[in-house]
Amino acid sequence: MYCVPPRGFMGSTENFAFLLPVMMLTFGCTFLIVGRFGSREAKLWGPGYLFAAVAFLMPLTAGALTDQYASLIADALFLAAFFFYGGALLARFGRPSYLRWRLGFTLATYAGILYSSLVAESIPAELLLDDLGCAALLTFGIIESLRRIRHGADRVLLGVSGLVVAEILVRNAVLVFIAPSYGGPDGFLASQYAFFMQVGASVFALMFALSALAASTLDMINAHRDAAERDPLTGTLNRRGFDRMVAENGRTEGAVIICDIDNFKWVNDTFGHGSGDTVIQAFAEMLQSRLPEGGFAARFGGEEFVVFLPATPLVSGADFANRVRLAFAGADRKAIGFDGKITASFGVAGTSSADHSLYEQIARADKALYAAKEAGRNKVMVEGEPPSDMSGPRLYRASEKHGC
Ligand code: GH3
Ligand code: MG
Ligand code: MG
Repeated sequence: MYCVPPRGFMGSTENFAFLLPVMMLTFGCTFLIVGRFGSREAKLWGPGYLFAAVAFLMPLTAGALTDQYASLIADALFLAAFFFYGGALLARFGRPSYLRWRLGFTLATYAGILYSSLVAESIPAELLLDDLGCAALLTFGIIESLRRIRHGADRVLLGVSGLVVAEILVRNAVLVFIAPSYGGPDGFLASQYAFFMQVGASVFALMFALSALAASTLDMINAHRDAAERDPLTGTLNRRGFDRMVAENGRTEGAVIICDIDNFKWVNDTFGHGSGDTVIQAFAEMLQSRLPEGGFAARFGGEEFVVFLPATPLVSGADFANRVRLAFAGADRKAIGFDGKITASFGVAGTSSADHSLYEQIARADKALYAAKEAGRNKVMVEGEPPSDMSGPRLYRASEKHGC
């Protein structure tokens, strides 16, 4: 990429020519450091930028290598850089690496470049092939990734990648169609127009690197935040994650359900802690898979879970709890060597206009859960009419209908 301007600008703008390799080297090293924290795409952006840095240094080897060989090495390095850029996009967006196809394409392009330079001795053909090869490698990554856009950073990254491809195409079109009117490439490269093209190319290169770096670091931050807000055993939110979800939802009305597995100490003591873990995971899975749109569940500790269903009336919340109760009680426990039932109890509470925070509602649901335990377990208890009848939780009728 940008093969022509650095080569052509060596005479008059040497300081400028140094800027790009230093910039690329900095990005390459930064990506490799980010990659060490587990970002797979950064591990591919890193070598890409290091190849580009060395490629941009090639014009500075004047004297040590003939122009022809320096140019061929730069071609290979740019192709390698774009091979890695394309790979980084594919990795970021969870696409297959298409390693063999992309490698085959890259090698075939380079064979064409060697032929143009060494056999046909056509520098324009060599440069054109190299640039188009680079553009194709990046375009493939963009097209494959388009369907996987998740957020703003993805959009910016793919948008800037598209600009880089467009810049390569426009630059080559200009060199093919406009440069001849300047008396050939040398005359054109000395023009103001070519200078602005060089500046534009450098700005795009910088935007490209920055958007890639922003996207992969944002992903890492999100991954770490997610890890801090999720319970490692079940993958559900933990209390910190629950609090953030509540804060993000604002003060919305809805149903709160507290669930607690019955006689769980006995499960642990009888079948072992590992089997207890399996039962907790199975319960979490049942909750999560039944959550309606917008609802979220969190493990508050041990074998106790809290569910919030925004914009859900008390009776629908109780209905949800009852569906989970029936599914959990009906599950086969042979996997832990138990022939009987393991059950759970549920307390449900609705929003009250007197509530200052969701935790007041959670406290009422907890009271109802306590009543469910008192009533013999494997029950769904609903709080009394808030706020007057709160002290008297009542059994959810549907659970009686289902034979509880
Ligand atoms: P109840 O029906 O009244 O709820 O009785 P219970 O035996 O379930 O009582 P309780 O809720 O107090 O028991 C919680 C037990 O859960 C105690 C603790 O050893 C166990 N526990 C807490 N965290 C874990 C965990 O991560 N894995 C396993 N296997 N057990 C856990
Ligand atoms: Mg329990
Ligand atoms: Mg408990």
